[in-house]
Amino acid sequence: MSSARDTSMANAFIPGSSPLPQTMEALVERRERVLGTAYRLMYQEPIHVSRGEGVWLFSPEGEKYLDAYNNVSSLGHSHPAVAQAIARQASVLATHTRYLQDEILDYSERLLATFPPAIDNVMFTCSGSEANDLAYRIAKYQTGGTGVIVTETAYHGITDAVSQFSPSLGPNVPLGAHVFKVPAPDNYRLGAEAAAIVLNGVDVALDAMAARGIKPAALIVDSIFTSDGIFAEPRNFLAAAAQKIRAAGGLYIADEVQSGFGRTGTHMWGFERHNVLPDLVTMGKPMGNGFPVAGIAAQSQIIREFGLNARYFNTFGGNAVACAAAMAVLETIQSERLMDNARQMGDALRLRLAALSARYPQIGDVRGAGLMIGVEIVAADRAPDKTETTRLVNGMRKRGVLISSCGAGHNVLKIRPPLIFQPEHVDIFVAAFEAILSRPETAGPL
Ligand code: PMP
Repeated sequence: MSSARDTSMANAFIPGSSPLPQTMEALVERRERVLGTAYRLMYQEPIHVSRGEGVWLFSPEGEKYLDAYNNVSSLGHSHPAVAQAIARQASVLATHTRYLQDEILDYSERLLATFPPAIDNVMFTCSGSEANDLAYRIAKYQTGGTGVIVTETAYHGITDAVSQFSPSLGPNVPLGAHVFKVPAPDNYRLGAEAAAIVLNGVDVALDAMAARGIKPAALIVDSIFTSDGIFAEPRNFLAAAAQKIRAAGGLYIADEVQSGFGRTGTHMWGFERHNVLPDLVTMGKPMGNGFPVAGIAAQSQIIREFGLNARYFNTFGGNAVACAAAMAVLETIQSERLMDNARQMGDALRLRLAALSARYPQIGDVRGAGLMIGVEIVAADRAPDKTETTRLVNGMRKRGVLISSCGAGHNVLKIRPPLIFQPEHVDIFVAAFEAILSRPETAGPL
């Protein structure tokens, strides 16, 4: 086994790669001393944060950063309604789900009301990884198979089972022998042709599985292909993919950790953009606006046998505090019409970015839905330009705007601001972006 540090995460800070202020250097060393070697920091010059409010993160010295990357604090950092709900519930009752309690039922009913009627059960976990792990366990139980189909550069989480179907973790985290990859939509082919790439991939993967004597358990897809490079179009084709896996005896799992809770601006759930009814849906990240709450939603017929035969208990999952936080999040998304805001701000930002693409040829494509936006950065021949992408991400950080990158070629800017983004934040973002774009020589501080 190689002992070299994995640098497959394009935007990971690499110790010793750039000079840091002394105090930061000391913090980085202290961090590695206590946390060990597995953690990664972002940016060539990491950021040190001690407070968040709305769309802003602050350093202890009072520097502020516009957070255009956070899909956890989807309502904005330190949202008062969520903070108060957590504090109120924690001071009254914070125990597990083996007693009758109203909080988990009130929240579950409200959450399920956002799904198509056939999705009528919910189970709670503490992370998106755990939700995918549970969904996979149920899929194996229900189908008697083990085979999984995932997109080429998917990320679904960190448990032993789930990391084996998360190819974006890089070559040091091998895929399972039961895992088969399909290409994500190719953005330079439009409409039906892009969809056909994925759908043909599913056929090929199912054939390959059959040839190896592996029975399919599930096709799992992040409904907006986040780590594959953010592909919001074409829509609707995942319904055909679901049909294919079902015809082969497997289940369709919609991973909504990224695309759920209104992020795409027009639908609460990303799978709705594809007109597909999933067997299982997994959720996490923004569900508690920073409080660890995640889970699965399912058609009850899918989880019934599993539940009858294998009891489910998760010490923290769905406890009263988690449900209070999640309830405050859902209420706020609905009462403040944040999905509409995500659509309006997302449209405005994409329009401005597309206008820049006329002047800056390194912008190969601007795409996305709502406030999940991908900007593809390319060289003259449209080949992925990872170096320029890294320069832009770090240049934005130096200007106080936080984004990152994704995609198989590490060349898609991943822009994912809180759903409360306002026109003035779009202005700040675009001004910073144009400043960096227009100074290609600037690799260092601005
Ligand atoms: N699925 C997707 C699509 C994700 O983006 C992530 C997290 N980035 C996960 C699952 C895993 O969630 P968690 O980090 O809460 O375990």
